[in-house]
Amino acid sequence: MKSSLIGGHVERQAPCKGCEDQYDVQISEAKMARLVELASRSRPAVEDDEYERRLSTCADCPGLKYGTTCRYCGCLVQVRAKLTESTCPFPYEPRWT
Ligand code: SF4
Repeated sequence: MKSSLIGGHVERQAPCKGCEDQYDVQISEAKMARLVELASRSRPAVEDDEYERRLSTCADCPGLKYGTTCRYCGCLVQVRAKLTESTCPFPYEPRWT
């Protein structure tokens, strides 16, 4: 099952034990868009089709938590995937480059 992480519905997963009932780990779409814009202002950004390809891969990855966070690097994938220089930190076999 694929899901879009761009401006669409993201299935909410159960929080990890460390975050459960302690922190609000969700981030609004507006705030995420602002973070992506700020990050890509000073660094080269990928085109939309590559961005969507990367996020589609993240959406199907067991390392994605809360629909936003990569468990292997702690990054917001919507921000990380936008930057040309970014790589996927999936152990031993990056899922996107
Ligand atoms: S390991 Fe790679 S594909 Fe998986 S969530 Fe992290 S950045 Fe995305």
